[in-house]
Amino acid sequence: MSNVGNLKELFSSKVFNERIMKERLPKDTYKSLKKTISEGSSLDLETANVIANAMKDWAIEKGATHFTHWFQPMTGITAEKHDSFISPTGDGSIIMEFSGKELIKGEPDASSFPSGGLRATFEARGYTAWDPTSYAFVKENTLFIPTLFCSYGGEALDKKTPLLRSAEALNTQAMRILKLFGSGAKRVFATIGSEQEYFLIKEDDYKKRKDLVLTGRTLFGAKPPKGQELEDHYFGTIKPNVMAYMHELDEELWALGISAKTEHNEVAPSQHELAPVFSMANIAVDQNQLTMDIMRKVAKNHKLVCLLHEKPFAGINGSGKHNNWSISTDKGENLLEPGKNPEKNLRFLIFLSAIIKAVNEYQDLLRISAASAANDHRLGANEAPPAIISVYLGSVLTDILESIEKSNGYVSKELEKVKSVSYVPEFIKDNTDRNRTSPFAFTGNKFEFRMLGSSQSISGPNFVLNTIVAEELKQFADVLEKAEDLDAAAVEIIKKVVKENKQIIFNGNNYSDEWTKEAAKRGLLNLKNTVEALPLFIAEKNIKLFVEHGILTEKEILSRHEILLEGYWKVINIEALTTVDIAKKAIIPAVYSYLTDLSAAVSKRQKLALPIDYSYDIALITKISVLKDKLQGAVAALDKALDNAKDIEEAEKKAGFYSETVFPAMQEVRTCADELETVVASEYWPFPTYSDILFAV
Ligand code: ADP
Ligand code: MG
Repeated sequence: MSNVGNLKELFSSKVFNERIMKERLPKDTYKSLKKTISEGSSLDLETANVIANAMKDWAIEKGATHFTHWFQPMTGITAEKHDSFISPTGDGSIIMEFSGKELIKGEPDASSFPSGGLRATFEARGYTAWDPTSYAFVKENTLFIPTLFCSYGGEALDKKTPLLRSAEALNTQAMRILKLFGSGAKRVFATIGSEQEYFLIKEDDYKKRKDLVLTGRTLFGAKPPKGQELEDHYFGTIKPNVMAYMHELDEELWALGISAKTEHNEVAPSQHELAPVFSMANIAVDQNQLTMDIMRKVAKNHKLVCLLHEKPFAGINGSGKHNNWSISTDKGENLLEPGKNPEKNLRFLIFLSAIIKAVNEYQDLLRISAASAANDHRLGANEAPPAIISVYLGSVLTDILESIEKSNGYVSKELEKVKSVSYVPEFIKDNTDRNRTSPFAFTGNKFEFRMLGSSQSISGPNFVLNTIVAEELKQFADVLEKAEDLDAAAVEIIKKVVKENKQIIFNGNNYSDEWTKEAAKRGLLNLKNTVEALPLFIAEKNIKLFVEHGILTEKEILSRHEILLEGYWKVINIEALTTVDIAKKAIIPAVYSYLTDLSAAVSKRQKLALPIDYSYDIALITKISVLKDKLQGAVAALDKALDNAKDIEEAEKKAGFYSETVFPAMQEVRTCADELETVVASEYWPFPTYSDILFAV
């Protein structure tokens, strides 16, 4: 039965949030927890005991029997280990217990998570530590406690720790600026809204595709006769079974306090998008992980499968995740709100300048934050921004910055009105059009980073954004705090930023070839794939940045670099092995069957010695035979490449070999097989094709 009738009660009903804490915790406990959350002060064990007990009682009322420390290891997905609340009393009965100690610290034997050399497998100890700034929640029969994950030596082994550290850095530096410009705010934080794209396909089709099951994407599949060229799916009517899925998804998300808001069909057939209302960075990251989890889970109830891979189908648009990012104060002010007269809003222009300078100086880090084997298929493929980072500001802000640079005074333009038909109410045009092709676009009162892949954790780009902007704000604050005339000094800073960083600003079409050429002329980085991008992660300037702001130690950076390289080649290794397996065990045998039957049929016909031309028969058999041989040759070459890869030890070299040798060998197998798909009879083809899958839901 639908709960939507009682939406107010449903929303956040499974979350141990502010309201519940206030209701259920003794006043003093609530106060010290609030202090921890807002000021970062540490909690004593006694307080933790009280909170743990209240949490447990609440969770049991919601049907929980277990609890888990929920964390986000470097695999990019979440991890959990469930313990029950049950504690035997010795007289054969049980009580339900949960202590402050269990709330604060967990110790999963987590030796199999990627650590990039930070921990040898024999040192199994890893700790999870409660993060009181993100709410605990109940999912199924378990109380989930958001935690951080670190090694025995205290090094971060997860995606959350650097994000929280970067939030501190951003707060510290942004507050310095706010103090100068006179704000009553006590705290500054990043806000994030992540638009999530996904595909829905039939479970039956999915199960028949070993490539989808093992790698999340199709490794074979010829272009279907109909793709997305008619653009009839984008914003199209949502089909009833997809609607039913979206409704159930909404309800599940709402109960978890996730404000799923916008849903629509996307460009590709079977592709959709979900956007929540933005929230504080820390919570947004947790909620996006949960959203992906629930999306997959709910699909099962509808005999569907939700694909979150960046490129499930070649030749069809892949899925991304737009990361909307802004900075707000505890008083609810959005610091990226330009206001009516942005040209006079120096505080806004200082924050804007910090972001422009940050993006220009750390193009590499932003690019790396979106780098993965899966996302390599998208960037620069005319469906997503190119691998070149640039900033879109729109004409108004660009003009304002230019006039500050040239000191020639900005003349604001009257906003135009739009009226389409006489009786349609007129409305005022936004002062800039949208640009859909920029990787980093100003969209009114926030920036939208559009490079991220659909399955990636949003913690990566956000800890980078927070840190690089904190660094620039720090440089500005160092100058402004000493200035006698604040406004004049601010104008000087803005001028200098524009002069030295204007090459990063681009308001045109980022998908065009001209832009690639122009960007090269401007000296912007064009890191085409993951292997090209990753070495820059450990560039001296980047290590210095992270260390200085206390985001990552040098050891942690080096380990992350290792993990990213390893993650890259392992993905391609699995794809290549799956390619070989499917080619040998499914495609080649199918082609043999068809060839055998075809040859028998032709030979029978030839025996009739009819006065006809047999050349088409011969040509077809020849074509299929030649393609089959080519395919077998390509499979042998891929096998050999995989064999050679085994001997390479060094991570960077290994990733390079997978990118330059294994990947193209895998593509060659696909090319041969896809061509065969177009000539082999459908009933012989061993799995559903693109046309079967993409238009089934
Ligand atoms: P579009 O499809 O045009 O890019 P959507 O409306 O689908 O835009 O999504 C915009 C996203 O930006 C939403 O998740 C929204 O909550 C988020 N957003 C809006 N304001 C802010 C803000 N100040 N900070 C962060 N995210 C924001
Ligand atoms: Mg968007």
